[in-house]
Amino acid sequence: MADRAPDPARGLLFPADEEEEAPVAGFARVALNRPLHCEFTYSVPPALAESARPGVRVAVPFGSRRLIGVIVATEDGCDLDPRRIRPLADVLDAEPMVDAGLLELTRWFADYYACSWGQALSAVLPGSLKREGNRRRVRVVSVREGVGETELAEVVDRFPKQHRLLRTLLEIGAPVELRVVTRRLKISEHPCRSLERRGWVTIERVVSAPDPLLSSGLDRERPEQLSDQQETAVGALVERLEQGEYGTFLLQGVTGSGKTEVYLRVIERALELGRGAIVLVPEIALTPQTVSWFRSRFGDVAILHSGMTDAQRLDMWMRARSGAARVVVGARSAIFAPVPDLGVIVVDEEHEPSFKQESVPRYHARDIAVVRARALGAVCVLGSATPSLESWKNAREERYERLALTERVSGRGMPVIEIVDMRREKPDRAGPKLFSRRLRTLLEETLERGKQSILFLNRRGFAPVLWCRECGESVRCRQCDVTLTFHRRIGRAVCHCCCEEVGPPKACPACTAPALHYLGGGSERVESSLGALLPEARVARMDSDTMLRREDYERTLESFGRGELDVLVGTQMIAKGLDFPNVVLVGIVAADSALHLPDFRAAERTYQLLAQVSGRAGRGADQGRIVVQTCTPDHPAIQRAARNDFEGFCAQEEALRGELGYPPHARLIRVVFEDEDAARAGEAAERCAHGLEACAREHGGAVLGPAPAPIAMLRGRHRRHLLLKLPARGSDAEAGSVARGFLIRFAEESTRTRVLIDVDPVSML
Ligand code: ADP
Ligand code: ZN
Repeated sequence: MADRAPDPARGLLFPADEEEEAPVAGFARVALNRPLHCEFTYSVPPALAESARPGVRVAVPFGSRRLIGVIVATEDGCDLDPRRIRPLADVLDAEPMVDAGLLELTRWFADYYACSWGQALSAVLPGSLKREGNRRRVRVVSVREGVGETELAEVVDRFPKQHRLLRTLLEIGAPVELRVVTRRLKISEHPCRSLERRGWVTIERVVSAPDPLLSSGLDRERPEQLSDQQETAVGALVERLEQGEYGTFLLQGVTGSGKTEVYLRVIERALELGRGAIVLVPEIALTPQTVSWFRSRFGDVAILHSGMTDAQRLDMWMRARSGAARVVVGARSAIFAPVPDLGVIVVDEEHEPSFKQESVPRYHARDIAVVRARALGAVCVLGSATPSLESWKNAREERYERLALTERVSGRGMPVIEIVDMRREKPDRAGPKLFSRRLRTLLEETLERGKQSILFLNRRGFAPVLWCRECGESVRCRQCDVTLTFHRRIGRAVCHCCCEEVGPPKACPACTAPALHYLGGGSERVESSLGALLPEARVARMDSDTMLRREDYERTLESFGRGELDVLVGTQMIAKGLDFPNVVLVGIVAADSALHLPDFRAAERTYQLLAQVSGRAGRGADQGRIVVQTCTPDHPAIQRAARNDFEGFCAQEEALRGELGYPPHARLIRVVFEDEDAARAGEAAERCAHGLEACAREHGGAVLGPAPAPIAMLRGRHRRHLLLKLPARGSDAEAGSVARGFLIRFAEESTRTRVLIDVDPVSML
């Protein structure tokens, strides 16, 4: 593993001050948010001696810059030549921002996920704590009166980024935080500055408004009577909590079985015992609905999600830290909330891939939850209708305790699932086959009965492929190895990887044949075909193209809840957490779309998705019905999901993974090599694979690849990857740390090729 002791060679990165020696009251080791796997030693001037304690943030000189870091240790002496150590510039906090427990946790985190301690700490601290300066203000962009089509037309060809930005701002039609739009459109601030110079937009600094989720108030009643199964689950959890000992429980409960009520009861008890709680939910399930469940039960609940401004996040973070809010509900990063005396950690939908952060530091919040609970003697509840195979295996092997809710509350039945073989459906004259006869009939029936339907398709846009019949080519992104998706409303072909877009080519870019064909369907096409099929139905589409702001999302859900809409068409965004009793029909338009991904978890994902989406139907008194449209009706994931046979699916899938040596039977480290120069990326990958071979051989592991990554080019960079497989248990700890140590050095030494280390990877693209 990386040596955590200060590295003398590194302590001297900056030139020594030739000035006379200043008095020194000790030394501080500071973790900086940089990809350098060491901490840096600074001297503590006497004036700062009182406040320079572990866990406080400090400003330090670094080269010619000033950076913010966290003191991880203080020392009286130092082996380095004191004249060559620079002093801390400032201490920014009166009290430590990060307590000893979180310091320890992030240190483990950095080791395990092969990042620097400072990078791990950056995952813990809210954004505004990583900067100095005014925390309460955010920059907000608004379009000036009268700016519209003319201006758009002026920039469309020559300044595509300005065009994209201006169009998005016009669509939103309200001021938005600058950082939010630039991040979403994957652009820098330059295009916005250009629009400002043209006099089309204004950028203002404003005091950040309170979190919009605060306002929503749907009250939930506390059911008097728990079901027998809920009672048993709550009993087991409360018992462990009262003992004050660590335990991880896998709460496996079918959709609608009342898992949330179980969480609420354990948290009630924790609060009575004077302890706090963290509840993690997937970002998109963090709806006003979910929040109101917790707010109406516990009052002051701190919410943390990525849509908040830094100032809002900081506010919530401080309220958790001071104990004003003892319950924190949030997405991935909420696992680090500084809740004092944490007693319960809940991870709802624990199988969700979004708990894995896909940028540095690449941690898995569910796994951190277990580690944090163990360190604190807290109870960790992992809840899901379809647990990940990893957790399922951990429960089977009794590392986790298993609690089961096999029935829906109040005896409501599970929905009936029908598989429709799309290969047998007649092709549609107008376009791709989106609706089977069966689905059409049921949609009409549901509408007539005044009930609601949900249509799910895991793909946005109108047509994912623009295809030339003459030469067989399809239109691709210039910078990424993917096809462009046609979006009809904006009339542009968009890259879903880098967000760049072009006007739809009138002719094939490869052979100049006229008339490209629009193949396949996305949510936009489903919505428009539905309009033709059921003209009288009130339809809304929910995907990241229509739901530009959180408010749009909340408004649409509320109006669906009030029965002002008949059909909701959507992507991932509608797969989770929604609980609308009037929904009796769910159509899964293309169940196999996830099956063809180059990912060993493709079948597992498909099962999870089917179960999840199906769970949206039949939550009221009426029987729910699910139509699963597929071209692979015999696939085990689809067959088992239709029979609700999760155990059978897991057993089969686990055996398969065992044969292939994939998780949960093995642990993986994925390494991605990115470079503008394909040969250089290839060469780095080969060298790295070669270096890992010995470690793999010695510990009974293996190196797979290197090979081109499934997305072989991204934003103009060629990508290769390799997988290191290590045994799941036994020698793992040592093998893992040897491999990570090698990879960290390799990555640090590789200056041209970018080397990304992903421990326990979730995305294989
Ligand atoms: P899950 O998360 O397991 O899918 P939910 O927690 O959404 O299930 O619960 C489904 C519905 O059942 C919710 O509307 C909830 O209010 C209700 N519910 C939960 N427990 C009970 C109970 N003991 N009695 C009556 N209704 C309950
Ligand atoms: Zn692209």
